[in-house]
Amino acid sequence: MELDNFATWLEIDLGALENNYRILREATGTPVMPVVKANAYGHGLEEVTKTLEKAGAQWVGVARIEEALLLRKAGIHMNILVLGFTPPQRVQDAILNRISLTVYDPTVVQAYARQAASLNQPLDVQVKIDTGMGRLGIPVEKALEFIFQVKDLHEFHFQGIFTHFACADEPEKPYTIQQLEKFNRILEQMQSQGIRPELIHSANSAAALNFPSARFDLIRCGLALYGLSPSDATHLPTGIKPTLSWKTRLISIKQMPSGHGISYGFKYFTKNSERIGVIAAGYGDGLRRQMGNEVLIHGKRVPIVGNVCMDQCVLQLDHIPDAGMGDEVVLIGKQGGDEITAAEVAKKWNTISYEVICGMAARMPREYIH
Ligand SMILES: *Cc1c(COP(=O)(O)O)cnc(C)c1O
Repeated sequence: MELDNFATWLEIDLGALENNYRILREATGTPVMPVVKANAYGHGLEEVTKTLEKAGAQWVGVARIEEALLLRKAGIHMNILVLGFTPPQRVQDAILNRISLTVYDPTVVQAYARQAASLNQPLDVQVKIDTGMGRLGIPVEKALEFIFQVKDLHEFHFQGIFTHFACADEPEKPYTIQQLEKFNRILEQMQSQGIRPELIHSANSAAALNFPSARFDLIRCGLALYGLSPSDATHLPTGIKPTLSWKTRLISIKQMPSGHGISYGFKYFTKNSERIGVIAAGYGDGLRRQMGNEVLIHGKRVPIVGNVCMDQCVLQLDHIPDAGMGDEVVLIGKQGGDEITAAEVAKKWNTISYEVICGMAARMPREYIH
């Protein structure tokens, strides 16, 4: 019986991560800003960022300043950009820890400047333009005025300008090109005023792969770096591999009599005398509480039956007669000749791979392999 440290764990392939980073950089000919928000898409913030720093990344992107501060505490030296909102009260933390903030609101910028004024160093800021996403960003019509406001505040160092695409994973739609044209128009207006910050960027994974003209000075890659494609219409360069596997073990096997109810609410009853297994994975780990989930045992697909519980769920093992206590079970990843991808799970759950991997609970240990 094989039982090691954990009942359930994530296996994170740092070798594949580094490989994906290099492939993306070479395939696009553009420096990559790895995006490591949300615990590096579930993979583990520190380990992932350290690996990418060693691989040569100069910039890293996060969503919140808390994530940036964790990285500084972990000894990360590379440039960090907070892509989302930062409360003005955190501006001094940002300056003291050399963290770049995103700005897009004229009022908030004033509050930032007041906070920064008490320190002798300027705050590094990057202006976000809303070229059509309809979320964060200064509207295009007000962009130039805002850029001048930011540039003229001596409490700031105007470091970069960027935008974000709404539909870059659907390259057949015209929206990305329209957003790009608006962004380029602002860049031209800036240029005619003699303004050129160090960094111009716009592309997430999908735009970096589908729209070469969106690459500018760097590409902000999350999902593709983790070996997953943002959409069926977005083709990953060859050699990119998934970096996350989700594993557990058989923690119980019983022969159950016919007509026996299984798990909360008895959503499943055995039809015959059946071999029923239990694995240590539930909705408390990120498994969805819905019917139709599958796992791999001995390289074969096995259905989860009955309701998924918080810490466990139940398997029908009749067609794997040699499955034994402690055998490895794969929820996401490869086993034998088969593979359950995050994309497949996402389809079953009626969502996107992003949500599947970000949903991997903090309580699961991450085992790092190379
Ligand atoms: C999350 C995020 C990214 C990364 O997106 P992917 O699709 O995972 O590559 C890039 N830019 C911004 C502003 C983001 O919020």
